[in-house]
Amino acid sequence: MERSDNIIKGIAAAPGITIANAYLFFKDEEIIYDTCVTDIEEAKKALDEALNKSKRELRKVLALAIDKMGKSRAAIFEAQIMVLDDPILLNTLYKRIEDEKKIPEYIVNTEFSKYLKLMNESKEIYMLERANDIEDIKNRIIRNIKKKKWLSKISEDVIVVSKNLTPADTVLFSRADVKGYVTEFGGLTSHAAIVARSLHIPAVVGLHEATKKIHDGDQIIVDGFKGIIIINPDPEQIRVYTNKIKKLYEIDSELLKLRSEPAITKDGKKIQILGNLDLNEELEIIIQNGAEGLGLIRTEQMFTNVEDFPNEEEQCILYSDLAERVYPNQIIIRTFDIGGDKVLPTDVKENNPFLGWRGIRIMLDNVEIFKTQLRAILRASVHKNIKIMIPMITSLIEVKKSRTVIDECKIELQNKNLPFDNNIQIGVMIEVPSAAVIMKDICNEVDFVSIGTNDLIQYLLAVDRGNDIISDLYQEFHPAVIRTLKQIISEGKKNKIPVGLCGEMAADTLAIPLLIGLGLEQLSVSGVVIPNVKSIIRNLNYKQAKKLAEQCIELKTENEIKNKVKEFYHKNIIDDYENFTQ
Ligand code: PEP
Ligand code: MG
Repeated sequence: MERSDNIIKGIAAAPGITIANAYLFFKDEEIIYDTCVTDIEEAKKALDEALNKSKRELRKVLALAIDKMGKSRAAIFEAQIMVLDDPILLNTLYKRIEDEKKIPEYIVNTEFSKYLKLMNESKEIYMLERANDIEDIKNRIIRNIKKKKWLSKISEDVIVVSKNLTPADTVLFSRADVKGYVTEFGGLTSHAAIVARSLHIPAVVGLHEATKKIHDGDQIIVDGFKGIIIINPDPEQIRVYTNKIKKLYEIDSELLKLRSEPAITKDGKKIQILGNLDLNEELEIIIQNGAEGLGLIRTEQMFTNVEDFPNEEEQCILYSDLAERVYPNQIIIRTFDIGGDKVLPTDVKENNPFLGWRGIRIMLDNVEIFKTQLRAILRASVHKNIKIMIPMITSLIEVKKSRTVIDECKIELQNKNLPFDNNIQIGVMIEVPSAAVIMKDICNEVDFVSIGTNDLIQYLLAVDRGNDIISDLYQEFHPAVIRTLKQIISEGKKNKIPVGLCGEMAADTLAIPLLIGLGLEQLSVSGVVIPNVKSIIRNLNYKQAKKLAEQCIELKTENEIKNKVKEFYHKNIIDDYENFTQ
């Protein structure tokens, strides 16, 4: 009888298996202890770095705020930056660290609190409002001091266990060679999960009470296929999982042989397989695994270690480098899709961020930031292998406005005699139901579209993509999803506009036959899964897949579609990873 008392189940968010010690990461912990420091220089340095980081973040906020709120209201942030430059305050902070030999967050907290107390006692509205600003700055500095600590603590190969992780945390930790992620909250298509998948770091999310059940230093096994965690495994469990890791390695090596083979069905239909790029580090694996270009570059993730918006030059260097490394293949650069769960350091708290200020909405409100990025993309397009893609499109007006801004950027570059690809293709993501409905009109305005199922499903079914409580309602095979996909693909074909799919559904092995059967000819997936996706397509008969799609369109429930798809899969596809998921 297999032991199960030390196993807990969550949602399998990133495949793979890993065995390592747990590192508990408490992000929202606000308790600040009155702790002494031994190394005063180190403490002063930590404060210095946190102050600089806070200033860079605030400058980014200021850039956004000026466009959005006007110069006078944005002055709040200018004032916050000035506080961080105030020599009297700074001297006091450093001097108190020297005199009292206390940790910097304690000094910042107590020093700022002195002022806050006075301000809060004031009867004047102005003073009370300013107190909020001071509180914001205090929290920002403390957050930045603490972040530095977490990172320096994570030096060994640990599994990070946390209540929640942002995509930025996921990236930061990966640079410290983290071996796995376990979180209490989060869904399969949350950006933290996507980043974990693209970095090939096994992850299990939605594991309630993980931070209570797992202790710092516990040995744990993360099984990212089944979505389970084993806490302090016994020797037999370790033996079983060590064997699994060995087997996985063999399968991965075998599949890699497909890297230079095309993704072509048994009856000769060619499918283009592109890579999704979230981080620069992934490009190598995408190329090695035989992608035919990049179908989605999430530019907002590429610059996460820079707190300011990257300038035109920095962006141009990065985009040119990507275009050159992938040449002659094409790359699709998506303009900044900030907002949603990819939070800005704006301190603008929205009740519904996914329905709020996100993607193209932010860019059209901040035309200078948008233009900086567009000029950088255009300048990098000299080899004619770059396409521009706009996210979160909900109306034709947004498409037209975006095109106008792109045209303005072209004129600006022409005036400076800077070369670019004048025929650069412009496409949009179809990821909001309204865009799917007006697909025909959108086709008149764009050169291509790419379906973003991660968002399309959440908006179509009104199910937050990052909320584990309702994760069973986030259904790829919901009839409304399948029929909407069909409508988008058919409209694209009718209007001769190429349609790709770059959401996580393209990497779901079960969904692939159905997607191909619906008529998709381009899939963009994260680099690590490319060999498996190719293998599935090479196993497939297109005519049969088409029939499967025709049958699924008629079905009325998710269950019926899922069963149909599973039945097809088990009958027709050899999937080497299947044993790991069952
Ligand atoms: C999507 O929504 O499917 C998509 C690819 O974009 P993102 O996951 O970055 O929102
Ligand atoms: Mg999206």
